[in-house]
Amino acid sequence: MKHNVDIPMTVIGGRGPHGLALHLLMQERGLNDYALVDPATHWLPLYGPQGPMQATGFLRSPRELDFSLGQPQREMRAFVDEDGSRPLANVYSLKEATCDRFNESTSEAQRAPRAAFWRYANCVAKRSGADQKVIHSRVTKLEPYQGGWQVQLSGASRFSTRVVLLASGLMPQLYLPQSWQVWWQHLPEERSHHAFRFDYRQDLKGSKVAVLGSSNISAWETAIKLAEAGARVTLLSRRYGPIERQLPFAPHWLESDFMAQFMALSWDKRKRFLKKPPIPNSSLPGMVARAETLGVRFVHHAHVQYASELWDGVQLQYKTPRGMQTELFDHLVAATGALPQARTLPYLTEAACRVKAPIIVGGVGRKRPILDDVGRWKNLPPLYPLGAHALMRAGHAANTLASATVYLPLTLPHILEDAGIVKDALVITA
Ligand SMILES: Cc1cc2nc3c(=O)[nH]c(=O)nc-3n(C[C@H](O)[C@H](O)[C@H](O)COP(=O)(O)OP(=O)(O)OC[C@H]3O[C@@H](n4cnc5c(N)ncnc54)[C@H](O)[C@@H]3O)c2cc1C
Repeated sequence: MKHNVDIPMTVIGGRGPHGLALHLLMQERGLNDYALVDPATHWLPLYGPQGPMQATGFLRSPRELDFSLGQPQREMRAFVDEDGSRPLANVYSLKEATCDRFNESTSEAQRAPRAAFWRYANCVAKRSGADQKVIHSRVTKLEPYQGGWQVQLSGASRFSTRVVLLASGLMPQLYLPQSWQVWWQHLPEERSHHAFRFDYRQDLKGSKVAVLGSSNISAWETAIKLAEAGARVTLLSRRYGPIERQLPFAPHWLESDFMAQFMALSWDKRKRFLKKPPIPNSSLPGMVARAETLGVRFVHHAHVQYASELWDGVQLQYKTPRGMQTELFDHLVAATGALPQARTLPYLTEAACRVKAPIIVGGVGRKRPILDDVGRWKNLPPLYPLGAHALMRAGHAANTLASATVYLPLTLPHILEDAGIVKDALVITA
């Protein structure tokens, strides 16, 4: 017996890819019992002009990871931009990616420009009337309530819901290596930045900038974007150099059938499967050449040790095989990615601690099974972690748009059941 609630199903982070995909899936089934809570003013803010991905020129994902969800007229290939062009018409397909030489042979013309993809997603959202489902607010607290949740919003209003879809993304869980954290906090804010939060609109002409951490997806993009803005960029890499790949893992991870089979495996088997092959550290093909053309300086095998404020800049110490180096920079930019840990999300910490919900400890091998066999976070009322939080259930594709467009459709039957939404809507076409 389900209790009465204000809204059966709620997406936190509703303007991200998961919220949009859920809206399209529900609309197709004629279902209306959900809300998308998000303070963002447009769809997919991660991909937008001031979002954390602004250094990213082109997506890595294939054309299958769009918002068509079974409707050909919504495919990214069919998108007509404001100027009448079709900027997403030639994006590569998963079939093309299965070719052995794909990672080396793919070209810029086969990739989705990030800004065009963002316009496409906003266009799909607008045409489908998704704005009407948005509660324009930030979730400040989630409290277990009668087998479901009480959702507290900024501005003090609240409502009850049976099921929460946790899709608030990587922010604010930006990552800095532990050994940096002590000294990083003493650096002046206007000189030390995280790549996902950097304001590229500031005047950087002639500034000396160090990008730290080339083992991350955004490091090469960040270095290039800064160099294009006129900065003198040094990229410090712990390794010798990047492996250049378009797709950082085998294409089958993005396929619905493969994901469904993976989801059906036992926890132990999934864990073993995820460990090999690991996701290689990579950048898009041609990135290194572009960085070189723009005069980006690479320092290989550089281990950052310490930094402190000095005069009008930051003095950085790093170790290389030639010994300890000391250098003065105007800005440091950490391209060290994010480390999502659901339990440390400000609006969820209290509830998760109170019931001792299991924690993600980090690193594929060390992760514990925080999700049950249908994708809910154990020990809590129905709450479905999505995106990077679903890595151990969805596989490597959890860190891509496939979490919204492949994983969510596969998990939706359970979500609808928990939400008490009609049973005959449970036949899902992925
Ligand atoms: C640099 C970079 C490059 C990437 N490149 C690709 C690529 O090429 N191809 C690909 O498939 N994937 C790529 N990804 C991953 C992909 O973008 C994500 O997997 C996808 O956006 C999934 O969304 P998310 O869960 O991270 O949420 P996000 O897209 O981050 O959305 C989160 C939403 O939550 C909202 N929110 C946050 N806190 C709250 C709160 N308290 N209350 C309410 N709302 C809140 C935010 O406003 C936002 O709208 C990339 C990611 C990064 C960082």
